[in-house]
Amino acid sequence: MLNPFDIIIFGGGGDLALRKLLPAMYRAYQEGNLPQGTRILPSVRSAEQRDEYIETAHTALKEHLGQGEYNNKDWQAFANYLVPVLINVTEADEHWDELKTILSEHDEDKSRVFYLSLPPAVYGTCCEILSTKGLITDTSRVVVEKPIGYCGESAEQINGKIAQYFNEEQVFRIDHYLGKETVQNLMALRFSNSVFENLWDAKTIDNIQISISETVGLETRAGFYDKAGALRDMIQNHLLQLLCLVAMESPHKLNANSIRTEKLKVLEALRPLVAEQVDDNIVRGQYVPGDLGGKIVPGYLEELADGPSNTETFVVIRAHIDNWRWAGVPFYLRTGKRMKKRCAEIVVEYKPVSHNVYDDSVGPIQPNRLVIRLQPEESIQLTLMSKRLDNLEMQLEPVTLNIELSESYSSGFHSDAYKRLMLDAAANNPALFIHRDEVRQAWQWIDPIIERWQEKGAPALYRAGTWGPVDADELLAETNHRWFNTGEG
Ligand code: NAP
Repeated sequence: MLNPFDIIIFGGGGDLALRKLLPAMYRAYQEGNLPQGTRILPSVRSAEQRDEYIETAHTALKEHLGQGEYNNKDWQAFANYLVPVLINVTEADEHWDELKTILSEHDEDKSRVFYLSLPPAVYGTCCEILSTKGLITDTSRVVVEKPIGYCGESAEQINGKIAQYFNEEQVFRIDHYLGKETVQNLMALRFSNSVFENLWDAKTIDNIQISISETVGLETRAGFYDKAGALRDMIQNHLLQLLCLVAMESPHKLNANSIRTEKLKVLEALRPLVAEQVDDNIVRGQYVPGDLGGKIVPGYLEELADGPSNTETFVVIRAHIDNWRWAGVPFYLRTGKRMKKRCAEIVVEYKPVSHNVYDDSVGPIQPNRLVIRLQPEESIQLTLMSKRLDNLEMQLEPVTLNIELSESYSSGFHSDAYKRLMLDAAANNPALFIHRDEVRQAWQWIDPIIERWQEKGAPALYRAGTWGPVDADELLAETNHRWFNTGEG
């Protein structure tokens, strides 16, 4: 069982804190995973916000918890864990001394988790003041949110600044996709089932598709998003991390160093895309108005309402990993906003059998397909060819073995990536967090793509409510592939 810890959530009144972090801690409490003596210290910038914080948290939990999760008795108990504090992270004033006093009330060995739910521009200053005010103990950790930088150079600056005050072992760079139970199950599936591990390479796999599609548009993030775009917001972190887990070799142990070493090797083996290779292997798009679920939604430029913009809201990349295991296998990475469905999934398409003993009369033989869904629900599906049992003739049809993971959770367990990762940070378990070298290597692959886009071309347009520009289908058609979208075949 985890020891009691203090988690200081800087930016406690922000969207992430209220929508994700507090519900995650509430769930941890409900499951009995928040040890007595633990304190959650959300920081806000005004005394008024601090005094009203418990009510703010109450409202947020009622709004953001799922059906049946909220109840007043648990809320009353959970509220006792909350200790709102007043801090402006760019001013080294007396409020930090007050925070120090609160933290010092408990024994020195109690873990401190400083969660920077803040704009990245103030990460450095916050760490500096934590240090100068003497708040960083040996058992302190800092959790850093994405995005880390806008390019390799700015990411290095942020990481370099944090490194002045925290050792790499104390820095927990979060990518919440890695906290999803299905993503960890991907490793379990690969490394504990010979049926998969022995069939996980270029000899048997034809192509792999990794998609994260959203139906939402800009929401309240216009200012941030227009500077970032889908490549920085999604591909540089979430999609490359998923790619690493799909493609990496088995770590020799299940500890953070071994896993990160294997992930890093994948990033290093990614074939660089520079100059015209960017044009040949990447499609970028931007949505225009369209019909999404029966409702006409505005295009990106209307939502932005701030002049013309070439920012991409959609990206497809055909990537290759130049190593023995994956030689010749395309990895298609796809992400987009205002897409037809909200979905995150990994689709592994196997090669056809080497010799087909059936002729066309039995029906088309589809290659086997493994689909690992991360959202909206978590599931694993394996499609095989099977004889139709209701027919004396030999007729084949695809059948699907389906594991609905959400149904297999024991009652009271709620799959919540933030909960898992916050508890991992408190337990000093960095296996599901990202090492500085991975951030560096990922940017090294992304930077030339950004450079090319700055020089050349504009995004292809796609209607909201579709699967992106036709160019994305054509890119796959070049190698006789096509997108698999669950529910559509
Ligand atoms: P947000 O809603 O703008 O919240 C940021 C918080 O930081 C606010 O509470 C703000 O306080 C506080 N803040 C800003 N400057 C401060 C200062 N000098 N001193 C103290 N507090 C300060 O942003 P967010 O969406 O929660 O995102 C927080 C971080 O998580 C960002 O790095 C973001 O990129 C990352 N992230 C967010 C999401 C998400 O779903 N929201 C997902 C992934 C990553 P005020 O309220 O007083 O302005």
